[in-house]
Amino acid sequence: MSFDFLFKVVLVGAAGVGKTSLINRYVDNVFVHDSTTTIGLDFKTKDIQMDDKKTRLQIWDTAGQEKYQISFSSSIYKNADVVIIVFDLTYEDSLSKVDDFIKGIENNSKKDPLFAIVGNKSDLENQIEDVEQKIEDLLKEREFKFVKTSAKEGTNVNELFFDIAKELKENQ
Ligand code: GDP
Ligand code: MG
Repeated sequence: MSFDFLFKVVLVGAAGVGKTSLINRYVDNVFVHDSTTTIGLDFKTKDIQMDDKKTRLQIWDTAGQEKYQISFSSSIYKNADVVIIVFDLTYEDSLSKVDDFIKGIENNSKKDPLFAIVGNKSDLENQIEDVEQKIEDLLKEREFKFVKTSAKEGTNVNELFFDIAKELKENQ
């Protein structure tokens, strides 16, 4: 199997926000209700054909930071091309952790990765109020992409990864 571009994508975020579910939806198009907790690190690959080029995404899943203590100085962040920071649109606590992830990774990475902020579980009721404004406030001058997804229903999941792959390819 050959490819023209290989990009390393890393998903981070609080436990339970849906990182593993987003990867399973994107790569295998499945949704499991009670997925088991990710232990340590794992990755899946997905190939995307764009124009006449094949782009391979190597998508890394991380376990809950607080439980397994993957330090921000870990090589997984250092050589990431893109870091997707996921929070749960119905759980304000997970949004308040986004800032720590941004700062921790920014302060430790050698090659500035592209960042995307993902609010997952858009299919549920009782969403955090004014979430767009809250994201804008915490991003300050940073121009990160913000996308709302549902791993359960598949909303925006392909779009999220495709847009990232396209942007990475264009930046080459
Ligand atoms: P992780 O700890 O970030 O990897 O989160 P998981 O992918 O294990 O998901 C945690 C729980 O949230 C599981 O019970 C999932 O079924 C559920 N979940 C994940 N994504 C969604 C979603 O988009 N909508 C809903 N309703 N539940 C979700
Ligand atoms: Mg997981």
